[in-house]
Amino acid sequence: MGALRPWPGRPLRMAGVLDDAEISRVLAIMAHPDDVDFSAAGTVARWTEAGLEVTYCIVTDGDAGGFDENFPRAEMPALRRAEQVAAAKCVGVHDVRFLGYPDGRVEATLDLRRDLARVIRQVRPDRVLCPSPERFYARIGVSHPDHRAVGSAALDAVYPDARNPFAFPELRERESLAAWIVREVWIAAGPDAADHYVDVTDTFGRKLAALRAHESQTGHMDDLADRIRTRLATLAQRAGLPDGRLVEGFRVLDTS
Ligand SMILES: [Zn+2]
Repeated sequence: MGALRPWPGRPLRMAGVLDDAEISRVLAIMAHPDDVDFSAAGTVARWTEAGLEVTYCIVTDGDAGGFDENFPRAEMPALRRAEQVAAAKCVGVHDVRFLGYPDGRVEATLDLRRDLARVIRQVRPDRVLCPSPERFYARIGVSHPDHRAVGSAALDAVYPDARNPFAFPELRERESLAAWIVREVWIAAGPDAADHYVDVTDTFGRKLAALRAHESQTGHMDDLADRIRTRLATLAQRAGLPDGRLVEGFRVLDTS
């Protein structure tokens, strides 16, 4: 059994998802403004309603997004940051941090891993939410290259970077940031690889409000509510829930 222990001295937790009552803080690491709202805002609303503190770390400013060709591109980063901050408030999140990487050109570099390890050590979350590093062929938009790069770097930052005091020693020596072990990672997986579902029927309205706050991305979508409802209802059917329920899906990893 000793060889199976992921870190010396840590008890091995067997399969299962941590109860929210055991959790104080959650850090959502996402590539673009709006990613967390499309994939998980109903779940985030449930967490904040249960008293969990949730922080967002958005790697890019979404400066390659939007549909209005007349809108000045130089103003897009500030607009999208403001939209994400407003969306966060809709689901009870008041701590939103941006890393300012260029939209569409994110790679899972050592610099990104260090920047994410820094935020993990600052926030000290029990649970991290991030995109999948995998490519899904069924719905290509889910596996945007920035999503995959951020998913990969986030998992590397969780293990080993944030918890290894000798990884990126400048974080400890210059910024006094102690090593931190994230106990659990939730990958926003959608229908492709989910093994855990959260019933978001009661927080669907808050998720929709958050999505509408991304006016530059969703303002032209007259069918936004129907589109999202259909997607979450289909997932609920797959999860075996009765008609009328809505769920978001995740793949949950024990990283303790
Ligand atoms: Zn995205």
